[in-house]
Amino acid sequence: MVKTRFAPSPTGYLHLGNARTAIFSYLYARHSGGTFVLRIEDTDRERSTEEYEEGLIEDLRWLGLEWDEFYRQSERLEIYREYGERLVKDGHAYPCFCTPEELEKERQEAARKGIAYRYSGRCRNLLDKEVQENIRRGKPHALRFRVPDGEEIVFEDLIKGHISINVDDFGDFIIVRSDGMPTYNFVVVVDDALMGITHVIRGEDHISNTPKQILIYRALGFEVPRFAHLPVILGPDRSKLSKRHGGVSVKAYREEGILAEALFNYLCLLGWSSPEEDREIYTREELIKLFDLKDVNSSPAVFDRQKLLWMNGLYIREVLSPEEVALRLEPFLREKGIEVGDREYLTKVVTLTRDSFDTLREGAEKLEPFFRDPEISDEIRDLVRTSSDYIREFLDTIEKQKPSTPEEIMKIGKAFLKEKGIKPPLLWKPIRGFLTGSTQGIGIDILLTLIPLEVVKRRFRKALEV
Ligand code: GLU
Repeated sequence: MVKTRFAPSPTGYLHLGNARTAIFSYLYARHSGGTFVLRIEDTDRERSTEEYEEGLIEDLRWLGLEWDEFYRQSERLEIYREYGERLVKDGHAYPCFCTPEELEKERQEAARKGIAYRYSGRCRNLLDKEVQENIRRGKPHALRFRVPDGEEIVFEDLIKGHISINVDDFGDFIIVRSDGMPTYNFVVVVDDALMGITHVIRGEDHISNTPKQILIYRALGFEVPRFAHLPVILGPDRSKLSKRHGGVSVKAYREEGILAEALFNYLCLLGWSSPEEDREIYTREELIKLFDLKDVNSSPAVFDRQKLLWMNGLYIREVLSPEEVALRLEPFLREKGIEVGDREYLTKVVTLTRDSFDTLREGAEKLEPFFRDPEISDEIRDLVRTSSDYIREFLDTIEKQKPSTPEEIMKIGKAFLKEKGIKPPLLWKPIRGFLTGSTQGIGIDILLTLIPLEVVKRRFRKALEV
């Protein structure tokens, strides 16, 4: 039975790379009829905050990644303590009394020689007597894992293939800090083993940690799970996607008005090759059915913001219903101080305008004129004044003929222009101007179809006031 987990540290907002890791772990569990675990890795007390944890959970819920089991490492310290003691008792770990200053010296020495730092092993072979004496004197100590010399750790990564790392690349490493807090490489093993995780799916930045973890699995007599390390996501300049590339958190995209469905869909395409080539739009159910780790690429994917925006626009125009888009737009309009009383009206507006925006934020901006009078610049006032007689007459015609679709409005408009012998901009530009505050944007036919005539007239009058 497959069991996967997503194990974020609440030390920042969920960024796109981690969101993709969460999605792949979730999809693989669901695809296999297995279990998906959310585990908050908050043993770094200094950098972890409750706010970030809440943020992570909010983002995961928003993406629709419901989990079957939930754990928080800070609530499991007693368990780690027991396993730490067991490792010491069995000789796989030992207390290290080296002070931070002593270790810093070792580090500087290595840097001076230009070699990779490895712990000297000074406390590795202390006599029992010395250990007891140090403890009696209250000397703070960490616990270090005793790494066997020269061993080659080999594993078959489900994405990266055959990986072989010599343990001499790293020395005896700390599993419990001197303040009693256990470290990532240690607790991740205890948790993955006790929780019965079968597939560890995570970013490739953890490949170098994996041999350390395998050593701990062995030392504790646990079965080693399968590993699947996902390639990094690159920015457009082909360096690892990071803050330097602008907003890269899920929160930033949500606030920009990207739909959860679109982000979910887009992130799946970053690194996963669908067996159905040439297809890009998938529902969650389809992804659950199709997703498999064997189709994850081993080389990095490049994040393409334009493509995400395009896909989001497609979801707005073609995938979601206008009712659904209206619902999602409301909070964005509210943020602008617009309370949509009449949801049916908003839905009508969305139906006719949704091909003109790619994000909900952009949508809220474009839709503002349907809900409140715009600011009118002097330039627009001039345009309106110049054409005011035509406009008045045109509005009267509309009032008489009562068109109810954009097509009918256009027909009446064309006939009017022809009869008067004037060019379209002379009429359309000022009307759009006093309706929206801008001379470009949503089609005039749509504006006149949706904005009630008495509102149109009021805005016209206001534009003529000095
Ligand atoms: N807390 C680790 C991280 O956020 C988890 C790594 C793992 O999945 O093992 O990078």
